[in-house]
Amino acid sequence: MRSWPEFDTNPEGLATALEYLIASRSEETAKLPDGLPGEGMGEKEALELLAPIILDGARPLGAPGFFAHMDPPTPWITWAVQQWTASRNQNLLHADTATTARALESNVVDWIAPIFGMGGGHMTPGSTVANLTALWAAREAGASEVVATADAHLSIKKAAHILGLPIRQVRWESARDLTGAAAVITAGTTSTGTIEPLDAAAGAMWRHVDAAWAGPLLLSERHAHLLDGIERADSVAVSAHKWLFQPKESALVLFAHQDEAHRSISVGGAYLSEPNVGVLGSHGASAAPLAATLLAYGKQGIARWIDHSMALAEQLHHIVCTHAELEARSSPQSGVLNWRHVQVGAEEILAELPKSVFVSATTIDGEQWLRSVAANPNADPEFVVAGVLAAADQAASAKKRSR
Ligand SMILES: *Cc1c(COP(=O)(O)O)cnc(C)c1O
Repeated sequence: MRSWPEFDTNPEGLATALEYLIASRSEETAKLPDGLPGEGMGEKEALELLAPIILDGARPLGAPGFFAHMDPPTPWITWAVQQWTASRNQNLLHADTATTARALESNVVDWIAPIFGMGGGHMTPGSTVANLTALWAAREAGASEVVATADAHLSIKKAAHILGLPIRQVRWESARDLTGAAAVITAGTTSTGTIEPLDAAAGAMWRHVDAAWAGPLLLSERHAHLLDGIERADSVAVSAHKWLFQPKESALVLFAHQDEAHRSISVGGAYLSEPNVGVLGSHGASAAPLAATLLAYGKQGIARWIDHSMALAEQLHHIVCTHAELEARSSPQSGVLNWRHVQVGAEEILAELPKSVFVSATTIDGEQWLRSVAANPNADPEFVVAGVLAAADQAASAKKRSR
């Protein structure tokens, strides 16, 4: 009988892959073949071709100049455990084969859900799917519309469309007639990091908190109070691949009443030993790197990264406020700062940024702002500001030349 060594443990090949990970060797950007290879080039050659693309070509999210998006650097232990899960390739759809992988996910959910005052839930590949899942449960419980503010994440609009529910834009201070509504309150809006009032929409039949970004503040003794009231929600979404420092794709949908909610979004099938809960079919063990992170560093270890990142956003705010050519829109509520140069537009600055510095831009009330997000505990606010000022100078002198 033929055996396929590709599926066996290959210590030498894995060591080569690890060598690239530890110290990538190539500076040259490789070119992929134009078409799908017929005969393969071999494993070492494939690794050699891909290392500069996947490793060297990636923007370094943990470098001092990176303070731009909700994408954190990831602790190395998650890289290692993700290799393990790839090697075992358990499918959490199947209760009969993925026994330990499923138990690990339940364990992780049992650790995290109580922090949010929730009874349980499950993992999803992101909060886009977590929001869809929560609103699906809300619809099954009788919700006939989705209400949210104009600042809700675009995934809420997507979910409403998919579920065939109308979506109504409200301001929480003046929202009325919520009896049939699934209300989505955002804890950490994407543009400004604003935490909407968590006691809003008291009359809604279902209250969902989209805590994709700011949810992990609950791990921090210093900042948990910002999310007071979240425990009264019916459901919560939180992205672990944001402020829990997980590799993508990793998030949780949490329910106040897990069993009831899960039953309402379950579908049985002839080949399944247990009904399929939620949106996903086959899916992998994203709980494994999260379990490793929680075990290795604990709640307090993660809280220290978050607290430090929050302090960096405060420091950036301070530098901006004391610099004559810079201004901030407001103080950063959940580690998101909107700021700008008083003379040079955000898009012009972005076009001139040195490679070592990364900020993003956003439009708020028709005005352009730079946006910095505290997802990188290694960031250096002074370095970021220096990069932005240099880019502003570049943009200004380029403009002068072209006149
Ligand atoms: C990021 C984000 C989402 C979407 O989460 P993904 O994990 O990117 O799918 C939803 N809501 C808010 C407020 C977010 O910041």
